Amino acid sequence: MSFLQLRAVHKRYGAVAALAGIDLAVGAGSRTAIVGPSGSGKTTLLRLIAGFEAPDEGQVLLDGEVLADRDSSVPAYRRGIGVVSQDGALFPHLSVADNIGFALAKGDPARAETIARLADMVELSAAMLARRPDELSGGQQQRVALARALAIQPRMVLLDEPFSALDTGLRVSTRKAVARLLGVAGITAILVTHDQEEALSFADQVVVMDKGQLLQAGSPRELYSRPASPVVAGFLGEAIFLPAEVGDGWAHCALGRVPVKDRGFRGAAQVMLRPEQVSLARADMHDAAARGEVIEIEFAGSCFAVCLRLLPGEDDIRLRLPLADPPQPGEVLRIDINGPVHFFAR
Ligand code: ADP
Ligand code: MG
Repeated sequence: MSFLQLRAVHKRYGAVAALAGIDLAVGAGSRTAIVGPSGSGKTTLLRLIAGFEAPDEGQVLLDGEVLADRDSSVPAYRRGIGVVSQDGALFPHLSVADNIGFALAKGDPARAETIARLADMVELSAAMLARRPDELSGGQQQRVALARALAIQPRMVLLDEPFSALDTGLRVSTRKAVARLLGVAGITAILVTHDQEEALSFADQVVVMDKGQLLQAGSPRELYSRPASPVVAGFLGEAIFLPAEVGDGWAHCALGRVPVKDRGFRGAAQVMLRPEQVSLARADMHDAAARGEVIEIEFAGSCFAVCLRLLPGEDDIRLRLPLADPPQPGEVLRIDINGPVHFFAR
């Protein structure tokens, strides 16, 4: 049973179709991540769910109730949906405590206690409650924004690139803390992010959007390993695409004969290789394996970015791989493919 449902939702801004017919189902207590390039309609989608905008066409339903359609829209404050935006949007003149407690009645005797509990929930120390937002780090500010969103005891929360302003280490730890917290509280959440790793690790369901359309929705593993198109594949991580001829469980491509994931198709295709499916080793002359000459190699921390020219021939492939003993340009390597590969019919 889906908790949140969008049916054929359209939204235009003048000539721009920000959302061009979105269908989406989100289960109760689940976590959905939305990825897609800038301008693909992610924020518009969240704003429609939150009630800051109304759809031109289609329906938004929450727990069976119509929140919005072409004729009517439940106002945002009556939807019980918590929102955390990219910049946190805290009130700069209010203390942390008053930011967190913004939606709580001033006269409520339990107000201070509720604020303290919420601060504790997002791992902010009591000492921080008296501070102003500008006296906190970026990560702490985002946790205040989250606590404020949770203060209304939301039916769901919407997070619009909430971690994007944070440094890598802090981004990972904040994301983990938020995921844990939402999981423990059983709160349905939608996270918009442009970070593929964040999407894949945070969510039960990943949604890929492009140009106002939903390209694919599914589990992180499914989308990563069986994307519906090369465009979807590209949003979820690095991939190499090679022209191939597929038949009987195998593909023939520039890297030789490789097993494919799905049987039952014969014909022209494009195979997709994720970096972890490729291993490189120094070739000796007797190797029958596919070979490539190192054209370029670049140190990139935990990985090397390698460009290989497939031999014989003119085709180049580029990939990032962890390499304990990096080769030099000009060296010839054998290229092995691990496991069955995904392909797209052409
Ligand atoms: P994303 O969050 O994926 O970057 P948005 O939902 O913000 O994308 O925007 C989708 C498209 O709608 C973009 O082309 C954007 O310029 C346009 N758009 C969004 N909000 C407005 C608005 N209030 N007025 C006019 N155009 C808008
Ligand atoms: Mg946006």
